[in-house]
Order: sequence, then C-alpha cells, then structure tokens
Amino acid sequence: MASLDLSSMSLPQFKHFLSERGVKTTGYKKNELLDIAREAKLQSIPTKTDHYVDEVSSQTLRRTVKGKVYPHPMRSNFSWKDDLSCLPNIESYDVQFYLKCKCMRTNDRLKSYKNDNSYRLHTNGHISQVEMVALDDKFRYVRAKCTPEERQSAPPYDIWILIDVDGVINSGECTCVAGDGTCKHVAALLFGLQAFVQSLTDRSAIGVTDQLAKWTNPTRSSRPVKVIQLDLWRDPNGETPTKPTGQLYTPTGKQVNRKTSLQTDEN
Ligand SMILES: [Zn+2]
Repeated sequence: MASLDLSSMSLPQFKHFLSERGVKTTGYKKNELLDIAREAKLQSIPTKTDHYVDEVSSQTLRRTVKGKVYPHPMRSNFSWKDDLSCLPNIESYDVQFYLKCKCMRTNDRLKSYKNDNSYRLHTNGHISQVEMVALDDKFRYVRAKCTPEERQSAPPYDIWILIDVDGVINSGECTCVAGDGTCKHVAALLFGLQAFVQSLTDRSAIGVTDQLAKWTNPTRSSRPVKVIQLDLWRDPNGETPTKPTGQLYTPTGKQVNRKTSLQTDEN
C-alpha cells in the first residue's frame, strides 16, 4: 500500500479503494474522496481481504497443536460417536484455566461463575447433541449444539472444542458472532462437560458402569394451548401474586372504585 499513488487514481478506483476498506463512498466529490483515501492510507485501514486472511489463519491456528493441523471438525467426514464414556477427565481447573487464559475472564467473574449466563445456559439445558471423536492417541474433538439464550426457537449454534486426553482444553469455536471459542456457548459446553464427567465418576463409584455414557438432551414441551387454559397467575419462580382489586389506577394517586368509575363514564 505504501507504493500506491492516490493522486493518479480515477474516481472508480477511489471508490473501490475505499469500499474495500469498508468506507462509505456515496455523496462525496472526487477531491473529498481523495482526502478520505489519504486518511485511510495514513491509518493503514485493512481491506476486507486482510480481514478474511486474518480470520482464516486464526481458524487454522485454533486447530493447530505443536505444528500439527487437525481438519476442521464441521467440514470433515468424522465418525462422531454419542458414547462419551471415554471423554477426557475435564476438571473444574481445566474449565477455569480456559476461561481465564483464552476468554480473558476476570477473577471476580470466575469466582461467581454460577451467576454467569454461560453457566445458566448449561444448567437450563441449552446444550444438546454432544458427540466426540478421537483424532489420535492424544486429542479429541467434542461437538454440540447450543440453543440461543433469547431466541429459543432460532436454529441452535454449532460448537466444538479440541481437548487432549488429560482434559486440557486447547481451543474451540462457535457459529455465533464471537465465533472464536470465547463465547458463552462454548463456556456453557465446558461447564456441561465438567458436570458430565463428574456424573460418570459418581456412577462408577457406585458400580454402575454397564450403560453407555450418553448426553441427556433437554426435553422441552411447548405445545400450543387455548388462551382459556393459560394459568397466568401461577409463576413457578415467583412469589404469590397479588389478587386483583376492584380499583383502577389513577395518575393522581387516588384509587377509584371500578363500579363508581364506570357509572361516572356512563353519565
Ligand atoms: Zn457462541
């Protein structure tokens, strides 16, 4: 870009130069575009291609361990298994270490992880269809789906993590906008896997080892019902609701009896 001669560029070339850098070009005269282009050049604003190259290389980096690049879990023809009995032993420390070092979570946030929305995604059953594949004797991919927090009817996000057999979490990705494995969806999967490993340990401690270790997918029933069947007064998480009264709200603060008010309106 240093050798680029802006003064010799035509109007379409200016527009292309700027739009490649995500700069709006409509509504400007050529000399104004020249000034903007000079500023863009001065600030070394990267092009869309630069962004793309950066993203591709960081994607590859997330699948690289000690110089070995593993195929992308979502774009390769792996034989995924839902039997998680050989899931690496993911401990609380492994999850906290990943959240601190890769997701840059603060100590305070780590300390109060049970209040975190990623932990609630796990406990509220947003993680489903957890499967695993062994890549070699050292590494495993685990993939899953995570229902979005707000729009539960929207398609789930696809997430994956790369872990080693000792439970150390190397990296992860998600199809949400964050994407790079630092989002709450990946964190929710980690919390879920840690709890799952704990349940396997508990199960083997009481001698139950003859069943397949599969993820229990959340069951959600959202059958449509008639309005008359809706029980709007019962909130399972709330306090006992206040009974309705025959009084109407008034901005003056004076409470008006419904019957009196209606009679006044009719007059
Ligand atoms: Zn995500």
